[in-house]
Amino acid sequence: MNKRAKIDTDANQAMAYPEMKLAFFGGDPVFPPGRITAWPAAQKKHLDALRGVVESGKYHRVNHPIVTELEQNLSRWTGKWMVRAVGSGTAAIHVALDYFKSRGEHVVTAALNWPGAVGPIAICGLRPIFVDVDMDLAGIDQKSAAEKLAPNVAALLTTHLFGNNILVPDARSAARTQGVALIDDVCQTIAAAKAIFNGTHLDSDVLALSGNGAKHLGAGELGFILTENNNLIEHVDRVSLASSARNGERIFSPCAQGYNYRPNVFSSSIANMRITNLDTQLQKRRNNGQLLWSMIGELPGLFPLFNPSDQHQSMLNFPLRIEPDFLGFGSGPAARDFIVNLLKAEGVPVWVWLRKPVFEYLPGINDSWRAADFPNTMKLLDTMFYISEIAPPNDAEVMELYAAAFHKVWKALPRLVGKGLATAV
Ligand SMILES: *Cc1c(COP(=O)(O)O)cnc(C)c1O
Repeated sequence: MNKRAKIDTDANQAMAYPEMKLAFFGGDPVFPPGRITAWPAAQKKHLDALRGVVESGKYHRVNHPIVTELEQNLSRWTGKWMVRAVGSGTAAIHVALDYFKSRGEHVVTAALNWPGAVGPIAICGLRPIFVDVDMDLAGIDQKSAAEKLAPNVAALLTTHLFGNNILVPDARSAARTQGVALIDDVCQTIAAAKAIFNGTHLDSDVLALSGNGAKHLGAGELGFILTENNNLIEHVDRVSLASSARNGERIFSPCAQGYNYRPNVFSSSIANMRITNLDTQLQKRRNNGQLLWSMIGELPGLFPLFNPSDQHQSMLNFPLRIEPDFLGFGSGPAARDFIVNLLKAEGVPVWVWLRKPVFEYLPGINDSWRAADFPNTMKLLDTMFYISEIAPPNDAEVMELYAAAFHKVWKALPRLVGKGLATAV
């Protein structure tokens, strides 16, 4: 066969067998290397932020002027909450739970959750009560949550995943009636700190926010307590400071629970710089998500975890799920894992988030809960994945390439169903 004929045959085969073009099976990937910018999207100007700390001559202290300025700027950005910086989002959750732990023995939270977010429940000597999630929110099911609220519950811990806002107004008012504290983990959903609910802020006692390198503030190691409660603001120091005081005195407090959850000043300086552009960043994330969904929303069996057109969500990453039976696959995670591998081979930054309900990651309590009792959580864990790079500077052109990769994969799927699935995964 001469070369020309060979190319024609390849082209015909690729048309008849679209799976032959997939990068997974040796075809050319949609994305050239280096086309996507990974968050935290490092920029030269971040060095200026770091230089500012060096020039201050002080590399730590909770009352460093850079930290204080950051707290004020973040507070102003939210339009409501007082802010205190701590070492991490996890530390913020711990401080919040520690403050409210005397209200009861239990904490009600979702089984679809981040293990690190739920860890502080046990650190505070409390026991979690898990409830299932609402399929339309990937967040706590408010009816099930309200049923579990009782006077012996210290807090309702609401985790806002992937950038979605978990408003759950009925669960919030049930908590108020029962004297249960409202703690919101907004580590992945920074805009939940703004007026997002009919022009008002969330009804909450405290929001825990992360500034880590994967989150919106992309700052390193950093977290925040947001609250209107002055006593809770003071409590931050009681949990966080072992050997120094906010007013600069050196005090050793051997009886305090000093975890030294001090904010990192270098991270604070980067976070402070990013706040200036935070609204623009959020708008670009939303625009990217909305544009991408407009190009892939018609694909059969593909669904978003929350509405990408919602103008208040934070689109940390773009979470999607498949309905395996729509696509002719059996139930269970194999179909999702297969599709993720096909998309990855095209160069799309897609990931499986977690595979198990949160209690299976926690020592000590994993025997008390059964995955089968949380059908929505299990369904999401078996079928969801997310696109990690949805933030600027990635723009419409990158979204078009993501969409092209999805269309390429979906076009080949009908011929791949049942065939090679077991071996390919
Ligand atoms: C990142 C994250 C945390 C923890 O924040 P760190 O700053 O990494 O400690 C807690 N909860 C959720 C939902 C998160 O995404």
